[in-house]
Amino acid sequence: MGTVCEFLFLPSTMWHSVRGMAPGCCVLRGCCALVCAPPPSWPITTFEKQKSKLTEVVPSQPPPKQVAKKLYSMGCYEISLGDTIGVGTPGLMKDMLTAVLHEVPVAALAVHCHDTYGQALANTLVALQMGVSVVDSSVAGLGGCPYAKGASGNLATEDLVYMLTGLGIHTGVNLQKLLEAGDFICQALNRKTSSKVAQATCKL
Ligand SMILES: [Zn+2]
Repeated sequence: MGTVCEFLFLPSTMWHSVRGMAPGCCVLRGCCALVCAPPPSWPITTFEKQKSKLTEVVPSQPPPKQVAKKLYSMGCYEISLGDTIGVGTPGLMKDMLTAVLHEVPVAALAVHCHDTYGQALANTLVALQMGVSVVDSSVAGLGGCPYAKGASGNLATEDLVYMLTGLGIHTGVNLQKLLEAGDFICQALNRKTSSKVAQATCKL
């Protein structure tokens, strides 16, 4: 499996009140990408193209558990494990998380699943069942991956909230307002929503 790590430095003015940090400090969230990237023997041709592109930006490919461990040891308060090209399946997600959990406590982990192959919600559910409680998503499923042409956006927040609500998990997010926000941004960008919930509840 291939991995990339990157960092997001967030000014403490945004976060200290939430996390109890002193102004002037920084919090560091680590992102470990391509956690479910295809193995070298991956049979699908399109991934061969993606892989050659990826090789250009990922000269060495340590496994996710090594990257996550390193990020955690560097002081990241949270490490987001990203299936940034959306090729993961629930089995891959489970195996990857099992390995990472040997190195990093579950409270410091998040998942970030793209929906290229329609697996993002299933992969996220596996992570939730394994104790992860932070999930990245994007309204209307916006986004993509700069390293993989054709990779779709993140898991749609609308679909995530719908599932969590169905599971009886309180999110504090108003689904109706979320749908309105998704509709607004899709109109502004002149693009179609990737959210199944938005499509199902569309009145047009
Ligand atoms: Zn992403």
